[in-house]
Amino acid sequence: MAEISMTIDGAAVPTSDTFGVINPATGEVHAQAPDCSKGQLDAAFESANKAYRDWKADEGLRRELLHKAADAMFAAAGELGPILMAEQGKPLNEAATEAFGAGIWFKYYADLQIPREVIQDDDNAFAEVIRRPLGVVAAITPWNFPLVLASWKIAPALLAGNTMVLKPSPYTPLATLKMGEILAGVLPPGVLNVVSGGDELGQWMTSHPVPRKISFTGSVATGKQVAAAAAPDLKRVTLELGGNDPAIVLDDVDPAAIADKLFWGAFQNNGQVCSAVKRVYVPERLYDGVVEALAEKARSVKVGEGSTEGVQLGPINNKPQFDRVSELVADAVKGGAKAVTGGKAIDGGGYFYEPTILADISDGTRIVDEEQFGPALPVISYRDLDDAVERANATHFGLSGSVWSADPDRGAEVAARLECGTAWVNAHLALAPHQPFGGAKWSGIGVENGPWGLYGFTELQVLYRSKA
Ligand code: NAD
Repeated sequence: MAEISMTIDGAAVPTSDTFGVINPATGEVHAQAPDCSKGQLDAAFESANKAYRDWKADEGLRRELLHKAADAMFAAAGELGPILMAEQGKPLNEAATEAFGAGIWFKYYADLQIPREVIQDDDNAFAEVIRRPLGVVAAITPWNFPLVLASWKIAPALLAGNTMVLKPSPYTPLATLKMGEILAGVLPPGVLNVVSGGDELGQWMTSHPVPRKISFTGSVATGKQVAAAAAPDLKRVTLELGGNDPAIVLDDVDPAAIADKLFWGAFQNNGQVCSAVKRVYVPERLYDGVVEALAEKARSVKVGEGSTEGVQLGPINNKPQFDRVSELVADAVKGGAKAVTGGKAIDGGGYFYEPTILADISDGTRIVDEEQFGPALPVISYRDLDDAVERANATHFGLSGSVWSADPDRGAEVAARLECGTAWVNAHLALAPHQPFGGAKWSGIGVENGPWGLYGFTELQVLYRSKA
């Protein structure tokens, strides 16, 4: 039996089956997670449907309980950290910070106003546009930031008056299930149900008749399947998908001055961030300097098991992803690229990989064109800025991007030409609850965060009162 349970209708629910969860630092199964049956999924949706009737009716209670949910997450960060670290691999302090970060999203939405807009007030009528909840939401999350990405969905969905069934990735189910147990102590039964299982469970959710909305974060390939599954029932969808973020360095920078921020824009969470820097374009004149400054950072980073003192990067989360990063780096090197540092796995068990800087590489190489989602960064040289911008945009992805310059105005001019949801100047991965986050092109449909993220869990209603 699994030690951490699914939460359905406010209660911990045992399952007849479980599946193993691997600790990526060892490559060994370290715990069992509950495997949700079809009947239990039906029960979860039924409970969410029942809870919706009262939950949507009391905005004051929703705000009060979102505040309590935030406080519960802040209080539980120390407990959630080790659970998340053991299944995800990230350093313990980052795991606990992620749990705390989820609380910040609950706090933000607890106080966010839901607008009512008056569109007519004359002798004939008083008309307002109000925002109504959609009903039950099916929420599906990936394995890189299980807690904080779940909070991006739970907080706005619940504030708007919806209820939810949430499914984490099978690679990282435990911290999210634990969060479900913790929040069951705060929220009325059925408002947030948390289930776990394999990818098939996700398919059952997206084809289930109850949910009116699917909020999905994951890969482009799965996102397309989710969109197709939602279509026959016209379920609303928000899709937060993959990225292949470019960073364009302008010719006026000092490589040493940008190296630290640029490096961590790419290697945070071991490069397993949808909106991490995944390719860097550098003017020829500065190329060697930027490559060397990034390589120096990469060499100095401490990689290891997440609870070891001073560790900055953990293992890659899972074997398929480890194999993918290894394969993409090997393909690049075979094609003539140079691994200035790294370029191979770290011996000793687990899915550890050396932080890798790839030079002498260009567009058309798989690791430049595809999403590597791991600790390997290609650095590409350019001669003409317009050409660099064109190459940065020549992709199906469009999540985010950044421009690095000693002149922020010049940087902003170039950044505005990037075809993506967020364009940073002298920063990357600067995310916050109030900023809408989403992707252009194949990187997604809709946004999360800020009032715009809330609107995605609502639909408009014109409330028209005749005066005539
Ligand atoms: P994934 O698409 O393999 O899985 C994501 C989730 O979908 C998991 O819970 C999985 O069980 C479920 N799933 C799988 N097949 C399904 C199906 N047919 N129907 C419904 N659900 C299904 O992605 P992943 O490997 O877990 O995550 C990595 C990807 O997520 C990367 O591409 C990354 O860029 C992306 N990502 C995007 C964002 C964003 O906000 N844009 C954030 C984090 C990660």
